[in-house]
Amino acid sequence: MTVACTRDNGMVFPDDLRDWQRELRAQFPIITGHPELTYLDSAATAQKPQAVLDAVHTYLTTANANAGRGTYPWANRTTDLVERTRDRVREFLGDPAPERSGVHFTSGTTDGLRTVARDWLTSYLADGDEIVVPDADHRANIEPWLETQRLLARQGVRVHVRRMPYQPGSGDYDHLALSEPAGRRTRFVAATHVHHVYGGNMNVHRIRQAVGPDAVICLDAAQSVGHLPVSVADLDVDFVVFSGHKALALSGSGAVWARQTRGPAFAPGGWSGTPNTAGIASLAAALDWLDAAGTHRIERWTVALAARLTDGLRHLDAYDILGCPLSLAAGSPVQQRQGIVTFRHRDITSGDLGFILFSHGFMVRSDNHCQGSAGETTGSVRVSLHAYNTPEEIDRLLAVLADLA
Ligand code: PMP
Repeated sequence: MTVACTRDNGMVFPDDLRDWQRELRAQFPIITGHPELTYLDSAATAQKPQAVLDAVHTYLTTANANAGRGTYPWANRTTDLVERTRDRVREFLGDPAPERSGVHFTSGTTDGLRTVARDWLTSYLADGDEIVVPDADHRANIEPWLETQRLLARQGVRVHVRRMPYQPGSGDYDHLALSEPAGRRTRFVAATHVHHVYGGNMNVHRIRQAVGPDAVICLDAAQSVGHLPVSVADLDVDFVVFSGHKALALSGSGAVWARQTRGPAFAPGGWSGTPNTAGIASLAAALDWLDAAGTHRIERWTVALAARLTDGLRHLDAYDILGCPLSLAAGSPVQQRQGIVTFRHRDITSGDLGFILFSHGFMVRSDNHCQGSAGETTGSVRVSLHAYNTPEEIDRLLAVLADLA
């Protein structure tokens, strides 16, 4: 069954958040320092608030040392920082059983997904098992699972890879089709929380309903952590993998949260290396900042900005919006668009459109966005939003796009 891609509620701009947003925006030095520019590429990496920059500076000037080794005060403080940040990640994700879960720091989502594949999935799968791979999602959430299949095949363990079914038109998963071949040994599902091209929340709770209580679900949360409340209690997934740099922390930071209740415990290798302690300091500060700002408010704000953009674009014939053309309202039983809108001009290539937009000060992403092989075959322009963006920026962008139409 395909559900209609229609808006089920009117979208009203959250004017009650305007003062809150003004205060937040003022905390991003790179944004306030460049009033002539408009940053619309937060899905690639997000800008950093002063509190994160300060936390890194404080750490590097008061306690910089290696973690888990020395016994002098700086080393102890660094070890303590790493352990406290593990707990902070659990708390941020609403972990209901933090004594059982594991948190492993990575350099980002790509590294995190690879670590789950290499250090956990290879020992979990047996001959004849099936894994589900979302081949129209980000390539970082495809390649590691296919590598696992190849690696196990060399050891004589045959793993069947099933492609995740998608609903045509919306980019959402086809959760009903996913449940169809009941009885198959679906042991593992790789999924994405918010699609990095189509911008939709992928309704992950319906994956659990489709595959039953025993399959392990690994969630690529690169586009959700830091943008909306992410609760592992509600999602009922086994791994949550995210990038610190998309959640306002430094590049080269990220984490894997592992529930540790289905299958063997996740015990990543590579602990002998030095962790990215400054990145971990930045992550702790970013999570504090996000909680204080309120991820539910960040979500309301960015969803409303995205709706403003899709509403405007739909009146311009020259543009096609990828995925569901509408921004579905909060509480939609179908699919909710988050703060990502990707589109094409019917006559101007995405590369040219990116250059033209930058000549007006807009920084957007324009290519194929590292989408997997089952995704779009031609490039597009992606606008991705965060708390620092404003409705005035969207209106200025729409005015330029209207001129080009
Ligand atoms: N998954 C998704 C959905 C993404 O959007 C991205 C980044 N664009 C990644 C994975 C990879 O993240 P990173 O570059 O931080 O490893």
